[in-house]
Amino acid sequence: MSFETVVVTDWSGASTPSPVRPSKDAIWIGVACDGGVTTSYHRTREAATEALCALFAAEMDSGRRVLAGFDFPFAYPRGFARALTGRGDPLALWAEIAARIEDGADNGNNRLDVAAEINRRFPGEGPFWANPLGRDIADLPRTKAGYANPFGERRVCDDAPGAQPVWKLAGVGSVGSQALLGIARLEALRRRFGAALSVRPFETRDTPVTLVEVFPSLIRKTVADLAEPEEIKDRAQVRVLASALRALEPADLDAMTREGDPEEGWILGLGHQAALDAAARAAAAPPLVPPRLRNDCFALPQGVDWVPVDAALDRLRAALHPLTATETRPTAEAAGRILAAPAVARRSNPPRPNSAVDGYGFAHAATGEGAQRLPLVTGRAAAGQPFDGAVPRGAAVRILTGAILPEGVDTVVLEEDTATDGTAVVFDGPVKPGANTRAAGEDVTEGAQALPTGHRRRAPELALLSALGIGSVELFRPLRVGVLSTGDEIVSAPDLPARPHQIWDANRPMLLSLARGWGYEAIDLGRVGDDRARIAARLDEGAREADVILTSGGASAGDEDHVSALLREQGTLSSWRIALKPGRPLALATWRGAPVFGLPGNPVAALVCALVFARPALSLMAGAGWTVPQGFAVPAAFSKAKKPGRREYLRARLTAEGAAEVFRSEGSGRISGLSWATGLVELPDGAAEIAPGTPVRFLPYASFGLV
Ligand code: AMP
Ligand code: MG
Repeated sequence: MSFETVVVTDWSGASTPSPVRPSKDAIWIGVACDGGVTTSYHRTREAATEALCALFAAEMDSGRRVLAGFDFPFAYPRGFARALTGRGDPLALWAEIAARIEDGADNGNNRLDVAAEINRRFPGEGPFWANPLGRDIADLPRTKAGYANPFGERRVCDDAPGAQPVWKLAGVGSVGSQALLGIARLEALRRRFGAALSVRPFETRDTPVTLVEVFPSLIRKTVADLAEPEEIKDRAQVRVLASALRALEPADLDAMTREGDPEEGWILGLGHQAALDAAARAAAAPPLVPPRLRNDCFALPQGVDWVPVDAALDRLRAALHPLTATETRPTAEAAGRILAAPAVARRSNPPRPNSAVDGYGFAHAATGEGAQRLPLVTGRAAAGQPFDGAVPRGAAVRILTGAILPEGVDTVVLEEDTATDGTAVVFDGPVKPGANTRAAGEDVTEGAQALPTGHRRRAPELALLSALGIGSVELFRPLRVGVLSTGDEIVSAPDLPARPHQIWDANRPMLLSLARGWGYEAIDLGRVGDDRARIAARLDEGAREADVILTSGGASAGDEDHVSALLREQGTLSSWRIALKPGRPLALATWRGAPVFGLPGNPVAALVCALVFARPALSLMAGAGWTVPQGFAVPAAFSKAKKPGRREYLRARLTAEGAAEVFRSEGSGRISGLSWATGLVELPDGAAEIAPGTPVRFLPYASFGLV
């Protein structure tokens, strides 16, 4: 069997609550599941036990099996259980200990008195020893002078390096105290969860919750290596051990939980330290990152001069691949993110056949044409309150929307079509078999793919994934998009003074906002002047911090086009002369493995090129696949004689009649037209004669994901 959730608890035998501020030598709980590992700090055993109860219940509700490890001995050296309870069963000893231990909500407890009480049953000074209190306790020796123990000093598994004997109630680890107090609490969990909980290796049945003994010191060195700076040791221990156990092959982990001695118990993973270390490191290792792009990925074949837009898009699509690593995240946190693996339904929706309306349910076979009169059974079926029992053939049951169809019911008649006196229901037949019911799995069946790889998660997907019990999903890390502006004339922000020859940076805010709106992590690389060394330094930074870089300005082939000159020097530039208006060449290159899109400086051209080329390319690199904007044929509200040779994008919006009007000027410096428009009209590569009423292709901004 496999455990979806692994819990590791670092226990404490303290007699007062631990400090408010998370500290060492207190109770720490680490929980590793699909979504990663979390830790929590608890000031008292009672608080920790409550937290565990809530966790177990929640995990059981969602069908996830829990392995919960505790770092105190679950049993004593051979012979002790039998001597105390008459049975060689450690769980009988648990009940015996629990019956004696009192452990308050403030950690106040009687463990030392219980130990003394037990000692009294055996001759000599022992087996329990070490009293940390100021007051003497009769029959509990402070030291081992005159110590006599009829049982072994250690269990076989306590030979593990660093393991302390269970008889010692104080001093390093105070293992003896932790065990007495811990066993009492675990016995309470056993009672609370009954058949849903088992303790290995003493019990072997598969249960939703399984308890085991663990010992984080088994992987002491790895824990130290993987601890975060300043991390409290106890926290690091539960965090690293929980993720290590979770990272083991499920079958290996299951086998480990069954090892050991049925009387003395066992430390989980003893003898498998190397596997645990490796699993801990694997769980902590940074995720695999896909290979970067090849340097020559944008190269065009020799002799290519002007590239039509569609050919350029095809080439771009072929050159690129997803660039980001993947991670598992809770469904609820995945808004706007892209699935890196298909989401598979954990159970059907709906899980069971249920009623689609408020009404009366019955077996269709017992009804016919004309007036029907069916006696009502006592009780009702409601959503969340299933009807207990079967409805006899020929009888009916009151049923509400969403209620599971009780046994014997396959059809529901709508309340409005019935009359009732409380003992019987009457209605007119015939009623269609299965009327007003929803079949199990009619929406999605268990095990079916609910969403494919590459799907972007929006609000509706949250509903679907939640309905199907998918609590965590495999996602691509958000693509990091760096944005850089270049040009001696560019001044960073509108609040800086600009001399007449200077202009405020319009492209960077626009491109950053586009990237963010597309769901990526936008990284502002600032603005640099026309200085190759500076541009190079900024591109270095971009390649370190971002997966892809968008630059604007300096992308043509002129004297002042330093971005392209620099990229050409590095030998990775491909200047794509795309047959497109507005838009001069698109400079495509890689810089230290990061793709660089050199967009035109002109804001109108920069936006059009970003929408037409960068958007599908970024989508592909982010893992969501290539995108094609959805266009609509609408009548033109303008006239134009278009020359052949270049595809044209005009700033456009729809009139009240649904025709496309275009901005008064095609001048590519007219930034105001971008915001006047609500989309672009796309005119074909060839010649076109457009008069009012001629159908043209309108691409709303929303089709480019521009919101
Ligand atoms: P370039 O591609 O560098 O030749 O620039 C073309 C035109 O766009 C010039 O008029 C530049 O001043 C202008 N331009 C370049 N970058 C920006 C920017 N970030 N914001 C606004 N205008 C820009
Ligand atoms: Mg320039």
